[in-house]
Amino acid sequence: MGKRIGLLGGTFDPVHIGHLRSALEVADALGLDELRLTPNARPPHRDTPQVSPLDRLAMVQCAVAGISPLVVDDRELKRDKPSYTIDTLELTRAELAADDQLFLLLGWDAFCGLPTWHRWEELLQHCHILVLQRPDADSEPPDALRNLLAARSVSDPQALTGPSGNIAFVWQTPLAVSATQIRQLLASGKSVRFLVPDAVLAYIDAHGLYRASN
Ligand code: ATP
Repeated sequence: MGKRIGLLGGTFDPVHIGHLRSALEVADALGLDELRLTPNARPPHRDTPQVSPLDRLAMVQCAVAGISPLVVDDRELKRDKPSYTIDTLELTRAELAADDQLFLLLGWDAFCGLPTWHRWEELLQHCHILVLQRPDADSEPPDALRNLLAARSVSDPQALTGPSGNIAFVWQTPLAVSATQIRQLLASGKSVRFLVPDAVLAYIDAHGLYRASN
């Protein structure tokens, strides 16, 4: 039996319970051996994150320390070019055995944006895609994804076989938390306790991140 590895990429600006609880539930439900949280160095699709890549990485490290099977994958931060997911998948796949299963976790909003990604049509050659619900998101996928969904989606994520090639929707506890909301709360001097792990909150406070004076 091959290994089962999950990847959750993101800006993690900052990491929060929406990421962490979803990651843990999916890892448990699918019996993943490892779920790698991969902070993006220079997200090609997004505004420059507010805090440094090293701070975002440190917060993810604080968040998952000792929480098996969650681990941090810092390869995108070490790379001196834009963080395309296809590159990360190719590099990760090259390190795995042929029968290892690779699962790319995408929140619904990220999934809907897929057609704008670099070489997005090749992603499924390397992994299965697991789509996480986000309670505050629109319910209809964009037209560009309809054919792909018709051809590749399976209803039961537990039934995904083979190393790559399919899409499944996973249920996890809906948590309508976003990093945007957390940045806004902090910028207006409000508490984010219980929206991020205590260790992340301690890091934010110790480094004065996201406060209006920054
Ligand atoms: P921002 O508010 O800055 O856009 P975000 O909260 O969406 O940030 P990202 O780092 O962009 O966080 O998200 C990384 C991945 O995690 C994406 O695939 C995103 O869809 C998913 N995700 C983020 N928050 C949640 C949540 N509350 N529930 C499920 N998935 C989530």
